[in-house]
Amino acid sequence: MEEKKPEIEQISDSVVKSDGFSYLIIDRFDGLVVEDVEFHDAVIIDGRDEAFVRQIVRRIRAHKKHDIYLKPVYILRGATITDPFIQKLTDGTLYSLDQLPFLKDETERIRTRSSELKFTESISFEAQMIEKVICFMYTSEDRVLEPIPYVYADINYSYPILSVNFSRHDEHSILDILEIAEKEGIFESEFHDKVYLCGNCNSGRLSYREVCPKCSSSNSKTQDIIHHFPCGYVGPIDDFTNEIDDELDCPKCNKRLRHIGVDYDKPSVLHTCNNCGHKFQDYNVNAKCMSCGQDQRAEQLAERTIKKYTLTKKGEMAAINGFVTTAKDIEEIIGSVKYETFKTMLKYEIERLRQTEGSSNVCAIKIDNPSQVYSQLGSDVQKDLLIEIVKVIRSNIRSSDIISFQNSSTIVLSMNEIPTRIAKKILSEIIDILKRLMETTLKSMEVQFHTHVIPLDYGMSPEMHIHQLTKELE
Ligand SMILES: [Zn+2]
Ligand SMILES: [Zn+2]
Ligand SMILES: [Zn+2]
Repeated sequence: MEEKKPEIEQISDSVVKSDGFSYLIIDRFDGLVVEDVEFHDAVIIDGRDEAFVRQIVRRIRAHKKHDIYLKPVYILRGATITDPFIQKLTDGTLYSLDQLPFLKDETERIRTRSSELKFTESISFEAQMIEKVICFMYTSEDRVLEPIPYVYADINYSYPILSVNFSRHDEHSILDILEIAEKEGIFESEFHDKVYLCGNCNSGRLSYREVCPKCSSSNSKTQDIIHHFPCGYVGPIDDFTNEIDDELDCPKCNKRLRHIGVDYDKPSVLHTCNNCGHKFQDYNVNAKCMSCGQDQRAEQLAERTIKKYTLTKKGEMAAINGFVTTAKDIEEIIGSVKYETFKTMLKYEIERLRQTEGSSNVCAIKIDNPSQVYSQLGSDVQKDLLIEIVKVIRSNIRSSDIISFQNSSTIVLSMNEIPTRIAKKILSEIIDILKRLMETTLKSMEVQFHTHVIPLDYGMSPEMHIHQLTKELE
């Protein structure tokens, strides 16, 4: 009889092979090196202890390397695990290793999706986080980033694949990052809920209490106020009690009270503070932060909107091509103006030309292989490089001309009141200097630049100018 090749091959204590895929089994902290994940096609976590699974999943998904955080993660014997955070961050469960062949398709699918992505070294932390999230969404083919109510989340909601990268105290910055991504057109959003966070430390772990408006103590007693109809006396119930029986007597007219609604009623209550003795009818509501201890009026809390996000087509393209930078990052580059400002200035210059004879130009410089360039540099170096580029351009143009980034690879600038021929010449000189700068910074790589100049035409809108300018560079 011919011997059939076994479908599952035990390579070592912690590695099994099936269908040509190598699965790393993680069942204990002892000797665990998360970086090993990189050398396998998928991970299988022993699911007997939920806290263990949570921690391992966190360490994998929070890893900086895409070869680690994008790997398929399965749970072995994890049927009892209900933690939504773990469920969102894992790709399936199995009851025994005999089922490994069933994982083949999913492992294959995630691997193929991952191989479609281009990874860049993003300029800022925000951009890095956005890239991580959209790459994960792309490989898991899940277009929706849903907030899940989560008891372990400092802001009460978790967006697992994003939240996993933050320590509890920093979780609130997730909301800022998602806002940036939405502004960039990466996500569309839908209102989900509101949360209130501590004004001091941004934690959502708050304890709400009714407190004395004078001294903020939550130690108070409450009693009914009684209105006696026959004589019109109004006062707290204490005024009506006596030491002999449970009946109530009016302190003003001495009549015994009979039936509520007939001869008296209780129109409201009176609170008395046990701390300062203050008597009042309306409490303040205070929220005490369980993280930093700050006690604050509920009105002073930071109100934040929790949204459900959906990946847009633009977001999907950003995942595939690499997400390098957010508008905020390039706005911070010294010597350049915001792109919006650039467009406004361009409009004024076109207006001015309508009234005076003259020749002004708008120019663009494009780095042809930005993802290659950026992926070789750390985010700090990238920003420094962009600052250097702006410096070079700035020193070659007039101080009245302006520079702006359309995105991380395209720089636009004005060259006013000079003939186009001269503008072109200056631009080519700038490129020569930039090339030299790139050579010394990047050494092994050649950076390609493309430039284009067009003279301003007062018959054309600013948008048309930009369109013509950048169309040439595509
Ligand atoms: Zn706080
Ligand atoms: Zn008080
Ligand atoms: Zn009375």
